[in-house]
Parts: sequence; structure tokens; C-alpha cells
Amino acid sequence: MTRTHSRPHVLLLGGTSEASALAKLLAARPDIRAMVSLAGRTINPTPPPIAHRIGGFGGVEGLCAFLDQHAVTALVDATHPFAERMSANAVEAARRMGVPLLALRRPAWQAESGDRWSEVPDAEAAMQRLGTTPRRVFLTTGRLELPAFLAAPQHFYLVRSVDPPEELPPRARLILARGPFAEADEIRLMREEAIDILVTKNSGGSATYGKIAAARRLGLPVILLRRPENAEVETVATAPEALAWIERQGSSLGSHASHRRGE
Ligand code: NAP
Repeated sequence: MTRTHSRPHVLLLGGTSEASALAKLLAARPDIRAMVSLAGRTINPTPPPIAHRIGGFGGVEGLCAFLDQHAVTALVDATHPFAERMSANAVEAARRMGVPLLALRRPAWQAESGDRWSEVPDAEAAMQRLGTTPRRVFLTTGRLELPAFLAAPQHFYLVRSVDPPEELPPRARLILARGPFAEADEIRLMREEAIDILVTKNSGGSATYGKIAAARRLGLPVILLRRPENAEVETVATAPEALAWIERQGSSLGSHASHRRGE
């Protein structure tokens, strides 16, 4: 069967506020077919305003098959900066299938005067950096990083995540919440809980920056999980820039699709 689509078909790898913003822009564009893909980690994801699918593709091979079956003409990786595997799979599948790839990724936070950051490569290193003396830790790394901290039960953890973690350290209080979080509320929370250190990922973006600004204001140290190194991919920081890139692909779409079909 020959698949001929006059409209571009964009696959948007989502799970971030940037992906949601781009989905919103695409919803207003009947000239562009687009589908969002979600990993299925969030229990009650906000339904996207365009077509969506949920769940892994089955590695690089699965993603290649998906790109082919759905005649995808452009791939936008708008996953979280820490979604390392999905981003690597996107690079490899796009290369194999000859599909143009764009990363939509918010820039990392940069330290400002007054920040007391120590950067570490992963959750295990963050747990080590907390040391042996019991501390009151505000932990916002996401529930999947939590197991590393079970090895340091001497600390009290104020854990905030979108979905409940499987297991909490023995001395912990859980807050289930989805951002954005305002700086003033973060200051209040950190004071109320007598927090003396913040542990977080360097996610970037404004929605969760409040805790970084709050720690600066309160003079508290921050242990920051450094971003994974991603392969070099054309990258933009905002949804409108990503839409402009999608529009620019329009002229070369036919040639990409034909190339993949060996025509
Ligand atoms: P990951 O470790 O890079 O990905 C693990 C596997 O999950 C991938 O190999 C893929 O499975 C599947 N997957 C990930 N994102 C997907 C997507 N958008 N659509 C379909 N399958 C996807 O990713 P992660 O760190 O677990 O993150 C999972 C999702 O949560 C991502 O969508 C990400 O944007 C979002 N998120 C992550 C973080 C974080 O801190 N890591 C924070 C906020 C939101 P297959 O190999 O089977 O295709």
C-alpha cells in the first residue's frame, strides 16, 4: 500500500510542559498532523489536545517501526532533560529512518550570586553528599530517584512528587503535587518544615524554579543532579521555535518520506 500524506506528520515525544505547550500550538494547526507520545509514568496525565498514544515503543527497533507505520515526517523530542534513554533512542531511530529530529529542551538553570550549589552526577552521589549527620532534606528529584536515599535513613526527607513513590525513607513526609510552585510558597514550606538542604535535578524552566530561588533567599545549600550528556541534536528552548522548525520541514517532507520508502 502506498501512503501518501500531503500534510506533515509529527511525532512529539512528550511528558513535559514544553511538550504540552507545543501540542496546544499544533492543535490550532489543521494543516499539520501530530501525535503526542507519553511514557505512561504519570498515573493521571492531563489529556493532550491532539491525538496521543501511551507507553514505550520497544526500544530503537520499536520506534523505527512506529515511525515507518505511521509515516512520521518529523520527530520532536520534548521529553524531560533527564529522560536519557528515550532521547538516545530518538537520535538513533531518526538517523536510521532518515526522519528529521528536533530537541525541544529548556535550558539548564545557571547558578547566580548567593546560590550554594554542589552538582553531582546522580542520586547515589547526592545521597553520599548529604553526609552522615542527620539533616532535614527537601527532596524533589522525582519518585524514581528515591530508592537511592533509602540508604541514608538518618535524614528526615520532605518528599514532593507528582505520583506516590513505592517506598519512602523511614523519616519522611510526602507531598503529592504538580507544579508550578511559587517562590513565596516554597519559602513558607521550607521554613515550616525547618529544611536545611534542598536536593533536586537541574530540570531548568520556570515551573519549578521557585525552590531554587527560595533556597537562595534562605541561604540554604542545594545538591543539584547534573543533566545527562545528550547527543548533539538541533535544539530549541520554546514551543513557538519548535513549531517554526516543523514548518520549515514542510518543504523537504516529501523527499524524506520517499527516501525512507526507497522510492
Ligand atoms: P527514559 O528513562 O529516558 O525512558 C525509558 C523508556 O521509557 C524509554 O526507553 C521508552 O521505552 C519509554 N519512554 C520514555 N519517554 C517516552 C515517551 N515520551 N513516549 C513513549 N515512551 C517513552 O525516560 P524517563 O526518565 O523514565 O521519563 C519517562 C517520561 O517521563 C518521559 O516522557 C519524560 O519526559 C517524563 N519525565 C521524566 C522526568 C525525569 O526526571 N526523568 C521528569 C518529568 C517528566 P521504549 O524503549 O520501550 O520505547
